[in-house]
Formats: sequence, C-alpha cells, structure tokens
Amino acid sequence: MFGKNKIAKPEIHEGFHLDVQEIFPTFQGEGPYVGYPSVFVRLGGCNLACDFCDTEFDSYQNFSVEKIIEEVSRLAKNDAGDLVRKLVVITGGEPLRQPIERLCQELVQRDFLVQIETNGTLFRDLPKEVKIICSPKITNEKYHQIRPDLLARVDALKFIISKTKKNYFQTAELGQSEFKIPVYLQPMDEYDEAKNQENLRHVLELAAKFGHRVSLQIHKILKIR
Ligand code: SF4
Repeated sequence: MFGKNKIAKPEIHEGFHLDVQEIFPTFQGEGPYVGYPSVFVRLGGCNLACDFCDTEFDSYQNFSVEKIIEEVSRLAKNDAGDLVRKLVVITGGEPLRQPIERLCQELVQRDFLVQIETNGTLFRDLPKEVKIICSPKITNEKYHQIRPDLLARVDALKFIISKTKKNYFQTAELGQSEFKIPVYLQPMDEYDEAKNQENLRHVLELAAKFGHRVSLQIHKILKIR
C-alpha cells in the first residue's frame, strides 16, 4: 500500500463476521515461527499507513467465522487429508483492528497454533494460547508506544530496519526489556537491491552489537507468497 491506504478505525462488534483480504497456504517467512507450514489469514484494513508497506489489505470481503474456519481447515490438510499446516497466522493490515477473539478461540479449540502479527497500537483480550508478534511502527518520526496491556502478552518484537530511512535506522526501547521480550531485526525491503544489501549488513551489525536475532523474509528469498 506504500502509505496510500485509507486509515481504518478499530471495529466494535461481536466478531461473528470479519473483513478478510485473503486466506492462503504458505510457509511462515519471518520471525520466531519461520519455516512452519502455515495458513495465513490476512484481514482487511489498517489503522496506520506506513510508507514502506508492501502489503495489499484494502480490498476485502466479509466472511463469517465459520467460513474462515472451514477454509483454514481445508487448506491446512494435505492431499491425504492429514492436518499438516498447524500454524495459523492472523495478519493484515492490522488484525487487532477487528474483534478476532471468537476466531482465535475457535482455532485454538481445533488445536491450531495461532500467531498474530500486530503493530502493537491496539488491544484485544485474546486466548492465552495465542502467540503475539509485535512489529512496532513509526508515525511522525516516532515509534508508536505498544499498548501496556498488549506488551505484557507480547512473545516477540520485530523491528524493521533500514540503513537509509533515518527513522528505521535502529530499534527503540518500548518496554520490551522489562518483560524480557526477544527482539528480532528484519531488513526493510526497499525494492532496491543495493539498499536491501545495505539494510542486511546494517541488521547484522546491530544484531551482533546488541545480541538481537536476525529475521529474513524467506518467503521472498524462496519466491513464494
Ligand atoms: S502497520 Fe503494518 S500493515 Fe499497517 S500500514 Fe504499517 S506496515 Fe502496513
């Protein structure tokens, strides 16, 4: 969307229906669950508009939770009908913009490992089994604070790092130290080979200096979705 999306407000309803951009099988490409065979549920709309954002999330359809579960369950199986994609990644856009508690509960009850990718500015009281990966974002040259109630539940922080975009040059202390939350550094994809190489080198330097973990977008390296 490259910052061109409309800002979408958080929704208040019972969560029986959700706006879904797409549901697709893949491998988790980044963060702590990298490499897991998974099903992605990409929800529509975001409450931020980041200028480097390369995700399409503004053309969605309204699906019932039953329909989402049905589709996830179908895509999670191999040809023999075995459940092989046990990780469900709920992402966006900003997935916490919509009331996803019911969807998460239904997935957890079906023994899926559920992971959320959030920008950390919104809170939902999700089942305790849900893993929360937070990638903080910047507006007006400052990182958004992570909601305190969410921070206590965050399993990993993922900072997007750029050598040349000054706001994304380094990480920030957003409360992660107090909760001993592991920090991942991921080079920003700037759709420019030279810049991407610089970003990667910069990530390696920062990780070596501060003891952070490196996250690469392996789905892009593998040329899969
Ligand atoms: S918060 Fe994430 S999904 Fe939303 S605009 Fe920023 S990068 Fe894109």
